[in-house]
Amino acid sequence: MTTRTPLMAGNWKMNLNHLEAIAHVQKLAFALAEKDYEAVEVAVLPPFTDLRSVQTLVDGDKLKVKYGAQDVSAHDSGAYTGEISGAMLAKLKCSFVAVGHSERRQYHDETDEIVNAKVKAAFKHELTPILCVGEELEVRRAGRHVEHTLAQVEGGLKDVPAEQAETVVVAYEPVWAIGTGQVCGADDAQEVCGAIREKLAELYSQDVADKIRIQYGGSVKSGNVAEIMSKPDIDGALVGGASLDVDEFVKIVRFRD
Ligand code: PEP
Repeated sequence: MTTRTPLMAGNWKMNLNHLEAIAHVQKLAFALAEKDYEAVEVAVLPPFTDLRSVQTLVDGDKLKVKYGAQDVSAHDSGAYTGEISGAMLAKLKCSFVAVGHSERRQYHDETDEIVNAKVKAAFKHELTPILCVGEELEVRRAGRHVEHTLAQVEGGLKDVPAEQAETVVVAYEPVWAIGTGQVCGADDAQEVCGAIREKLAELYSQDVADKIRIQYGGSVKSGNVAEIMSKPDIDGALVGGASLDVDEFVKIVRFRD
């Protein structure tokens, strides 16, 4: 059986400037003990403007916190004002990049085709994409949440070869649970995450599917993380609001305690 190291990633969204980021990562790194990193991979996804500061801190102090960006351009370079390429993120030694977050899909009209191009751009530059998928409330109410989410997984990974796909992280984030305080029940989250793994096995192989980490995201807090993490197909959490509070995020990382 494949053992998957849980990934706890903090999506700061548009919060914390580069000075605040330094203080935050320093506090986080020093609050975490060596044994925390053995059990869990810990990452932060700050705004682009913080990445250089976080890199310098992590490199200089040999901290084990990993970091990444919240988005990447589908293009390598050129006349794309305001965009940031995978090559630029790789130069900053980012490990991860979130792709297709629901706020990008909703406010920036990102379609599965765009998300797929961004997943490929991430892989091209040796960044691990965190492919975000999940349904809106109307879709869940209509009972179409599984098919909707699986279509996003398939669309996001279209023509991505197995050698790359086995390293992707998929984050199941029901849109109605993001930033609302309304957490998806652990059994409901497992239903979709289990279906995602089955879809990955169908698209690739059981072996590849067993290697892929599937996170749950949506109002994760220290009080609900242990139950969510007890589910067999949930391998970590993508944490928004609660990742801005270092003490709370540390408790989430230590969900086994
Ligand atoms: C997110 O932004 O990915 C997220 C899950 O946010 P929150 O934890 O605040 O619901």
